[in-house]
Amino acid sequence: MQIHNFRTNCLLISLLLGLTACGGGNSSADDDSSTDSAPTADAGSDQSVASGDTVELTVTVTDDKTTTVSWSQTAGTTVDLSSTTDVTVSFTAPTVDGAQTLEFVVTVSDSVNPEVTDSITVTVNEIAELGSAFEAFGDNVSVVIDGSEVVFEATGRPDHRSCYWNPDNASGLYVDCDPDITQTAQMSPGFIEEYNNLFTLRAPLNPEQATSSSATGLGAVGIATSGVPIFNDQEGPNIDLELRVIQGFDRNGAHTGPQTYHYHLEPKAITNDDIELVGIIADGFLLYGRRCDSTGSYPEDLDASGGHVSFTQHTGSQDGDESYHYHIMNDLYLGAYYLMFPGDYQGTPNSIGG
Ligand SMILES: [Zn+2]
Ligand SMILES: [Zn+2]
Repeated sequence: MQIHNFRTNCLLISLLLGLTACGGGNSSADDDSSTDSAPTADAGSDQSVASGDTVELTVTVTDDKTTTVSWSQTAGTTVDLSSTTDVTVSFTAPTVDGAQTLEFVVTVSDSVNPEVTDSITVTVNEIAELGSAFEAFGDNVSVVIDGSEVVFEATGRPDHRSCYWNPDNASGLYVDCDPDITQTAQMSPGFIEEYNNLFTLRAPLNPEQATSSSATGLGAVGIATSGVPIFNDQEGPNIDLELRVIQGFDRNGAHTGPQTYHYHLEPKAITNDDIELVGIIADGFLLYGRRCDSTGSYPEDLDASGGHVSFTQHTGSQDGDESYHYHIMNDLYLGAYYLMFPGDYQGTPNSIGG
């Protein structure tokens, strides 16, 4: 909360004394407390950060005298402030379990008028568990934690082999199609190299399930650890994937499309009937392979989106460490295929900007 009294005092003094100027640098007022303005202090907007972040607190002071500043912490795990008397102070956000609110109060005095104070809260978010999951994303995906959010960026080009790379093999990743999987006559036009995109997803570090689910749309609904966008189970507006389209997919359940190479089915280069982390869905929840690390087998408590709350290889194993995540569902589509993420979102989806 900012205390706005400087202008009011200034106006009042101007009226009483007929002064035409008022404010900093008016040294003639310094010797006369009757014309002295009380300071104002603004500690800035509340902040949301992650454990380990360096957090800066700055108080903005207005006064016509020299002021002193004093910071103190009034709530939360005690942190080590770089100074208690500087205008800008910093500290390292502590390790927390879940999220924790720290509160700081700054007091500003000009030794003449009553002291003024302002407070600021800093919410510290846990990253320890998710941090190890983020490390499972390959070199093709940039993962940056930004306060209480995490930002994923990927070009849509995979870090694995595919018969959708240009056969001149400049990528070094071209491989002939497996005729048991891909019917070349059904392949989509366009090599992977022909698409230049940057897919960006900004999601909360600690996503929460929404009160109601929401449908996925066409285009990217998530980003895989390989750098490739995850698409849902449709190939057009209200057009479910047809066998004819699937027969043109490579062994990763992927093909090229209007925007990018993308997955529709279980991508064998990432996961093949196992517990591997597959990617992140637009609502911030992680997507794993068909098996769950908590049991090593196919989960039997999945919701309609393939989600459940349990331990994973990226969480602790103590009570309370469980987290909500999705799995590729172990249900055959058209008798032979595993859809990657037919949806719906169980959290609040964020846009995946291209
Ligand atoms: Zn497609
Ligand atoms: Zn699971």
